[in-house]
This record gives sequence, structure tokens and C-alpha cells, in this order.
Amino acid sequence: MGSQRVVATFHLPREWLGALPDLTDFVEWGSEEPAPRDWLLKEVGEADGLLCTVTDRVDGEILRAARRLRAISTYSVGYDHIDVGAARARGIRVGYTPNVLTDATADLAFALMLAVSRRVVEGDRLVRSGGWRIPWSATFMLGSEVHGRTIGIIGMGRIGRAIARRAAGFDMKVLYSSRTPKPDVAAEYVPLDALLPRSDFVVLAVDLNPSTYHMVDYGFLRRMRRSAYLVNVSRGKVIVERDLIRALEEGIIAGAALDVFEDEPIGADHPLARMNNVVLTPHLGSATVETRRRMAEVAVENLLRGLRGDPMLYEVGSEVP
Ligand code: NAP
Repeated sequence: MGSQRVVATFHLPREWLGALPDLTDFVEWGSEEPAPRDWLLKEVGEADGLLCTVTDRVDGEILRAARRLRAISTYSVGYDHIDVGAARARGIRVGYTPNVLTDATADLAFALMLAVSRRVVEGDRLVRSGGWRIPWSATFMLGSEVHGRTIGIIGMGRIGRAIARRAAGFDMKVLYSSRTPKPDVAAEYVPLDALLPRSDFVVLAVDLNPSTYHMVDYGFLRRMRRSAYLVNVSRGKVIVERDLIRALEEGIIAGAALDVFEDEPIGADHPLARMNNVVLTPHLGSATVETRRRMAEVAVENLLRGLRGDPMLYEVGSEVP
């Protein structure tokens, strides 16, 4: 296997890579910045395996340049950045990292729900800016409760289920909409039109695909309660961001908590960054030491198995759960 070249588009700590650098001719993009397209186009030309992540667009052009490529392993559960159909048509297998990041992402969804409705970030900003002057008041910075409310989860997959489990612990009524009902989930399956007006928190946990691209537009937001919050831990392109900004400006919904954005990264001049009823995190869903290490183990194992011609741990389009 030592003669097989593996190109990694991002840096992982050496100890997370296991045997990969020893077993292969390993080349890595050595900066925290996303690998430039030109670098990837050049390097992929001699690669047998590609270790990539969500910031890489692995499209037809890259795949045509990848004359020897046999295995792609993405360090993510989402694979909307890869043209999987084109890869498979060329006999290139695609591995991904489901399950190991599910709980970390569901935890973040709850952190966002609590932060936006209990005004945690706004309160922190107020204290740090010296704005906390009256020690206590019965009506000071009142938020909205999470426990006992209704959560509407859109996308009852791995992460949606983990969010539903947490919601049960908060005594929440759980509604969900998905492409197909999940009889094993203790929650009420409802059409989207019924979920939106009933939910105090609408949480997006779908994958990005043609049916979810720009699913959340002005019409969607108008169907939510004016007192409701929108939470997104899925992909930024599920939301028409300019419609969300308009809805927040007009008070169509109470607030939003977002981990992902249409074009990442966003800066301090972004309209959402100027709104007090919005909580923003920089794509942190899976960002814990434990989860990122487990993702590395899975991604490396997927790649090594792909190069050997063995079944991957998790392969896009395979029957493995
Ligand atoms: P998953 O198990 O594949 O779940 C996706 C769910 O979305 C499925 O249940 C699917 O429904 C549902 N869905 C797809 N299209 C839909 C539509 N039009 N309407 C309603 N539901 C729809 O994936 P997962 O592991 O839970 O991950 C979900 C996504 O979260 C990933 O693809 C990724 O983009 C994102 N993510 C983000 C972070 C982050 O850092 N913020 C971290 C991890 C994952 P059916 O089962 O009925 O087909």
C-alpha cells in the first residue's frame, strides 16, 4: 500500500491519523485555510485516495483530473459537497462519518435552543459591555421557556432522533416531519404545514439535497408562530438567508440560532450578526475533541479499506446503516 498516494485537503493531528501516513504516500494541505482549488486539481491527478471535508467541492472537474482515484473519504456525515453519482460512475467509492457525530450535533442544537430563548449570549454581551446596572428586576431580560414547549424537528434521521431524545428529557411535545414516517420514534409525525404553526422551536436536521435546498423561505417562515425560534444545525443552503433576515426584521418569528450559513464564513458585517435575537456559531456541530477524534478514526479506516478494496465502515449508497 506504501506506493498508493493519499491526498488530504486539511490538517488533522498526527496522532488522529493512525497508520495512514506510514501505510501510504501521504500528502496533506498544511494550512488551516481550505485547500485552494488549483492545489487540489494538481494533487488529485496522482492520488489513489482522497481525504476531504465539507469545504472541498469534489465535482466533475476534480473527478476528471483524478485519473487514479479509487476512494474518497470525507471527514463529515454530509456529502453534498461531493458529486457522488459522478464518482460512483467512475468506480470511485465514497466513505463518510455518520453516527459518531450525531450526539455532539444534537447537543449543539439544544445549546442553540437554550441560548436563543433564554438570551444567554445577549446576557453575556450585556455583562461584558458594562450594561448590567440594576442588580435584579422582575421584568429584566425575560426569555422564553424550553421545557414543556413544542419542538418541531424537520428531518428525523440520526441527528433528528438524538434531538428528539433530548427533547423528551425536557418534557417537550415532539413533532416531526421527514420524507417517510419513523414508526419507532416516540414523536408525532405531521406534514410540514401542520408542524410549522404548532411548534415553539423549529429545528432543521435534514441533509442538503434538491428537496431541502432553500426549503426555508419567506412563505415557510410566515407559517411559523411569531413567538417561535428557528434553529439550524443542518446546512446553510437549506435556508434562503435573505428571507430569514427579512422575517427577523419584520418580527415574523421571535429569533433564530444558526450553526451553518449559505456562504461560510460570515463576517461581523453580516446582517444576522447585528441582530440581538439571533445566536450564531461557526459550524461547530461536531466540534468536540472526542467526536472529531472518532470522525478521524472512521475517515481513516474508510479510506484504508477503500484502497484495499474492502467494504468501508460507512460508504455512501451502501446498505450499511
Ligand atoms: P440522516 O440520518 O441522513 O438524516 C437526514 C434526514 O433528513 C432523514 O431522516 C431524511 O428523511 C430527512 N429529509 C431529507 N429530505 C427531507 C425533506 N425534503 N423533508 C423532510 N425531511 C427530509 O443524516 P444525519 O446524520 O442526521 O445528518 C443530517 C445532516 O446534518 C447532515 O447531512 C449534515 O448536512 C448536517 N450536519 C451538520 C453538522 C454541523 O456541524 N452543523 C454536523 C453533522 C451533520 P428520510 O429518512 O425520511 O429520508
